Amino acid sequence: METNQSENQVSISDSQAIEEALNESTNPDFQVIRDQFPILRRNINGHPLVYLDSAASSQKPLRVLERIDRYLREQHANVHRGVHSLSIEATDAYEEARNTIAVHVGAADSSEIVFTRGTTESINLVASSWGDTFVKEGDEIILTKMEHHSNIVPWQILAERTGARLNYVDVTADGRLDMNDLDRLLERRPKLVSFTHVSNGMGTLNPVIDIVERAHAVGALTLIDGAQAAPHLQINVEELGCDFYAFSAHKMCGPTGVGALWGRRDLFEIMPPYQSGGEMISEVTLEGSRWAEVPHKFEAGTPNISGVVGFGEAVQFLNDVGLDTIAVHENSLKKYALERLTAVEGLTLYGPREERTSVFSFTYGDIHPHDLSTILDQNGIAIRAGHHCNQPLMDHFGISATARASFYLYNTHNEVDALCEGLQMAAKVFGGIA
Ligand SMILES: *Cc1c(COP(=O)(O)O)cnc(C)c1O
Repeated sequence: METNQSENQVSISDSQAIEEALNESTNPDFQVIRDQFPILRRNINGHPLVYLDSAASSQKPLRVLERIDRYLREQHANVHRGVHSLSIEATDAYEEARNTIAVHVGAADSSEIVFTRGTTESINLVASSWGDTFVKEGDEIILTKMEHHSNIVPWQILAERTGARLNYVDVTADGRLDMNDLDRLLERRPKLVSFTHVSNGMGTLNPVIDIVERAHAVGALTLIDGAQAAPHLQINVEELGCDFYAFSAHKMCGPTGVGALWGRRDLFEIMPPYQSGGEMISEVTLEGSRWAEVPHKFEAGTPNISGVVGFGEAVQFLNDVGLDTIAVHENSLKKYALERLTAVEGLTLYGPREERTSVFSFTYGDIHPHDLSTILDQNGIAIRAGHHCNQPLMDHFGISATARASFYLYNTHNEVDALCEGLQMAAKVFGGIA
């Protein structure tokens, strides 16, 4: 297989300066890390793949693939059921992953980690279990206008069921949360503030600790959608001070169909089960049933065991590289991409310049984002085009879609260049930028 362009052949001097700075400040070499992702050696449409869609789903390093493979070949049985050796081994692998993830996010205890299908299911779990129990007619819930649909629709359905009311914190022109608007809505004494740590639509990094403090000051609980933050930042739920934190494995080098909900133990204790069936009970008679202990109470049925094992390995991979090290690399990519993209005439970039991650949402002249994505794809460049499950945010900016390029630990400065060259090509195809 062909390997991608060498990191050493950066032609633009600014890029070289940044890259030199990067080489000074990071260890290990990110080319070595990149080489651990087999899919990145692919050619797409005759060009080396430039994968700039990690905000939708990240690629997987070899060790995660190998761990899942080994689990299925050598260790698989159902968990928490058998007393035979293989079942004990599978249960150990499953619970070890829970431990790894609990430690990783700074949980007080591994029982505060519930495995789900992902961020979406984690939020649905809270909306159903906590929401149906504690939210009454006339209660208020605060969301924001930059939420992913996963953090809007479950609350809309809860509001329909209960007669609760939803309010949305406004977004400023440069794509940040309007904190005055938050304060205004908090005066109404909501039950819950549920908001994203990092915007998937614009890359905005929200002041989560500040928001949690303001919410708690009026007695509201807080849920943080961490789908875009957990892959990039060292999360410590105790420091954040929140009540629930939701995230997905597949955006942080792990497999699809698995994720986690961290929640405070005292809240989990008073919440009823989310789904019911096997695994979540301690005793069933024809008259009724008793629930299993937290977290098993929330994990009905046979779970995604191989997925959970792969999730644990992905978190170990991120820890071994080091989230600090990843942040240095991503910051360098971010600075470089910001510099290059803002220099492109006719390109409108959404979101703030500071307090952001390396998710870049933009429109380019009047080229439709889908057309842009198609042209880039012909050159092997994968970006996302559409509303990114962020329709209220798109409405807020009066647009229907953007093109979105998102970077992760395996991306290079050359790929920023490739994106900009692709944009030039698209401009030619469309006979210039209007
Ligand atoms: C991807 C994403 C989700 C949904 O995650 P799933 O893994 O699809 O459940 C929710 N919120 C944000 C901010 C996201 O980026």
